[in-house]
Amino acid sequence: MQPFVYVGAPARVVFGTGTLSQVGAELELLGAKKALVLATPFQEGDAQKLAASLGDKSAGVFAKAAMHTPVEVTDDALAAVSASGADCTIALGGGSTAGLGKAIAWRTDLPQIVIPTTYAGSEMTPILGETKEGLKTTFKDPKILPEVVIYDVDLTMSLPQALSATSGMNAIAHAVEALYAKDRNPIISLASADGIRALASALPKIMQDPADSQARSDALYGAFLCGMALGAITMALHHKLCHVLGGSFDLPHAETHTVVLPHATAFNEQAVPELMAPVAKALGAQKAGQGLYDLARTLGAPLRLADIGMKEEGLGRAADIAVANPYWNPRSFTRGEVFGVLDNAFHGRRPE
Ligand code: NAD
Repeated sequence: MQPFVYVGAPARVVFGTGTLSQVGAELELLGAKKALVLATPFQEGDAQKLAASLGDKSAGVFAKAAMHTPVEVTDDALAAVSASGADCTIALGGGSTAGLGKAIAWRTDLPQIVIPTTYAGSEMTPILGETKEGLKTTFKDPKILPEVVIYDVDLTMSLPQALSATSGMNAIAHAVEALYAKDRNPIISLASADGIRALASALPKIMQDPADSQARSDALYGAFLCGMALGAITMALHHKLCHVLGGSFDLPHAETHTVVLPHATAFNEQAVPELMAPVAKALGAQKAGQGLYDLARTLGAPLRLADIGMKEEGLGRAADIAVANPYWNPRSFTRGEVFGVLDNAFHGRRPE
């Protein structure tokens, strides 16, 4: 065994079906008296129901969470926290809502309960990406990590099939990069391989039958493991490219991960095939990059950047930005090679 450092994320994780009913008990364990429930406008109804079920432990609902955690929304939410006397937040939703809870916690150190309803994995990380005047900055701080995560399979039953596919691929991307990360360790590698296996087996079943509760449960379990991986290690070229495409070209988050992942993986697989072997195995494929591409195709997910809002003339600028301030990567790269990865993703070519 190689030497390694492993730091366990100090979060309490409750996983199951119908676990939403345990929120009150979790608030008591935290010692919290009144929680503000956070949501997007789309999920406000669910947030209102949850708040009503909490009775006098509810400090109301703030349902203005938005993609990429704009600071203006956080400022409004902080005012709602003060006005309501909340001593805890409950984020009910996907990565956008979890982001708002984290932004509040970073500023106030209020404890957070996160109840994820997508597979994005933000609930398991001490990472916050927020936007101010159109610029997104991402940083890590132990204060950002939620104290309690409640996974309730019931809440994912309504996740539309297209978002299930791309959100699931977004989760897989965390685990793929965890397997070759510079700070990888055997515990997170085990979790990553099993997270990919669980999602790769569940997602095609969800595409056939979105009401398949066993598949939904397996997918959510996979998302938990992949989120744990994202929180534990440092991301590389794939996440860098997605941050560039999302931050500077406004491409949609989960779709961008879905399209770029096979190409970034195939590029790195050439340098570290042994580290990508668990991905190929989990996918039942010869090669990791090809297997990821074939999975996305099976799911009917987007395969080309051209189809999710990217313009071909932007590829050069994207490559420039990616190499200007690169993340560590297991394979060194030139600007031309990064352009090649982006060009393959733009055209949706199956990796060799
Ligand atoms: P999202 O949270 O933006 O949700 C997309 C839409 O789907 C929203 O309208 C939401 O209300 C709706 N939705 C969520 N769950 C649903 C359900 N079960 N049924 C029906 N509709 C549902 O999307 P996301 O992909 O989960 O999150 C993306 C954001 O999270 C990005 O801003 C990304 O940067 C961030 N993120 C952060 C981290 C981190 O560790 N900091 C990790 C992953 C993603």
